[in-house]
Amino acid sequence: MKLETYCQSCGMPLDNPDLQGTEKGGIKSDEYCKYCYRNGVFTNPNMSLKEMTSLVITQMEKMNFDSKIIDKAVSALPNLKRWKASAVAS
Ligand SMILES: [Zn+2]
Repeated sequence: MKLETYCQSCGMPLDNPDLQGTEKGGIKSDEYCKYCYRNGVFTNPNMSLKEMTSLVITQMEKMNFDSKIIDKAVSALPNLKRWKASAVAS
């Protein structure tokens, strides 16, 4: 079965089990990548959506993604589980 999930914090495709974050006890997370989520907690719990947006842009530019693809990734961020609540509040 092919995994069609995206990290619910940064939007990275979780198409490789090596990229999946971990819950407490080392169980693989189906929702977050290992860069965002480790041992059941966010690696950067105080990060704002704005900070995540600029991080994603920086990382994707480094990887030479097309600006259209970067735009699409960035516009999808507020719909991810981690940011949905805060997006409504602001
Ligand atoms: Zn992530």
